[in-house]
Amino acid sequence: MDITYWNAHEETLDKDALRELQLIRLRQTVGQALKTDFYKRRLNKVGISSGDDIKTLDDIRRIPFTTKDDLREAYPFAMLAIDLHDVIRLHTSSGTTGTPTVIYHSRSDIDNWTDLMARCIISTGVNRGDVFQNMTTYGLFTGGLGFHYGAERIGILVIPASSGKTNRQIMLMRDFGTTVVHATPSYLLHISSHINSGDIKRSDLKLQRAFLGAEPHSEETRKKIEELLGIDAYNSYGLSEMNGPGVAFECVYKNGMHVWEDAFFMEMIDPVSQEVIPDENEGEIVFTTLNRTATPLLRYRTRDLTSVMGGECPCGRKHRRIARIKGRSDDMLIINGVNIFPSQIEDVIMKIPEVGTNYQIVVDKHGALDKLTVKTELYSKIFNGDFSLLSNIKIKLQTMLRDTILVNPSIELHEPGGLPVSEGKAKRVFDNRPKM
Ligand code: ADP
Ligand code: ZN
Repeated sequence: MDITYWNAHEETLDKDALRELQLIRLRQTVGQALKTDFYKRRLNKVGISSGDDIKTLDDIRRIPFTTKDDLREAYPFAMLAIDLHDVIRLHTSSGTTGTPTVIYHSRSDIDNWTDLMARCIISTGVNRGDVFQNMTTYGLFTGGLGFHYGAERIGILVIPASSGKTNRQIMLMRDFGTTVVHATPSYLLHISSHINSGDIKRSDLKLQRAFLGAEPHSEETRKKIEELLGIDAYNSYGLSEMNGPGVAFECVYKNGMHVWEDAFFMEMIDPVSQEVIPDENEGEIVFTTLNRTATPLLRYRTRDLTSVMGGECPCGRKHRRIARIKGRSDDMLIINGVNIFPSQIEDVIMKIPEVGTNYQIVVDKHGALDKLTVKTELYSKIFNGDFSLLSNIKIKLQTMLRDTILVNPSIELHEPGGLPVSEGKAKRVFDNRPKM
């Protein structure tokens, strides 16, 4: 396989060189963080008053974690480490789980982020000559501008389509010969159900690849997208607190996502005990920015659950890889005492050809008991008016779900296109139980 790098030196640094660089940058970052009211107070409490107090990488463990609530409390300015005149952009999180948070960027922050994005894009084999259609929202959401800048820096033709207007998306793809798209997996599934059903056929398109990001999705979903569109799809992970996309990305080998460890120091912790755990154990990712000036973040708890993968990747990049994100620790549903991740339900839905790819998970309280309902659409070409077919599909889905999640769900089948479509991050879970 052809391996291309954006910056071969940085991408193939060996472990020792990487750790050396991390230590230098960690000291600088701590020094930078001390310029903010928030971190000055926090770090002084644990006896850190200068970057030089960090002697080894393990000293990072002296620093308390930063949480999303801390960012909310610091909103809008308490975590800003540079003069406001030197800030050239801000982004906020999409606010999936509450009030948004803000991250500021200096010119060098944007420059470094853009380089990380260029690395990601190139690592999938995309390069000059490709035509890139960016189907995620432009604006405060980081997926629009983040990918846009990275692709432009490489010198790729970018179509800033943003999300929505499905027919126009498909028309743009045909008219300009789009070879690669970036979208949320849920939106790309929606698009794929429209290709072939209208005037524009798959054979009118030159599409070869997709970057899938911003929301959890299973390996089955990737496969489904690859099959439906006949393309290669790569997993893209990031969060607005760590710039946005460009934190971790799959290379051509698609065997886990390389985390750019020269820009982000990664630790894995047990979300309950908050102890650092060894690689390969499943836990919560904690990131420290290593070269950000405007909003340095120390030991930020992402709440994203995954594990670090072992072994070396044949692409030559030494940056450690993480497995697919299972979900956020706060995504977990507890249904009559059983722990369930929405991704487990999605996995089953993607395995059943008779149902479509759009779905919802609804939880209600019936007396003392929790009731789980899974709503999904029928696959458009299946229903022929035979109602016994419907009940067979229901039973199949119910049985497979029960065997996987150990809870017996009610199933609601909807006609194709019957459930609301999301153009950005999909809202899948509706937990209607009274809050404790
Ligand atoms: P919000 O936190 O408001 O949703 P963000 O845009 O910062 O706003 O979302 C980042 C989060 O999205 C990550 O912390 C993670 O939970 C999820 N996410 C992003 N990319 C992926 C991915 N490839 N796989 C799974 N989850 C992802
Ligand atoms: Zn690789």
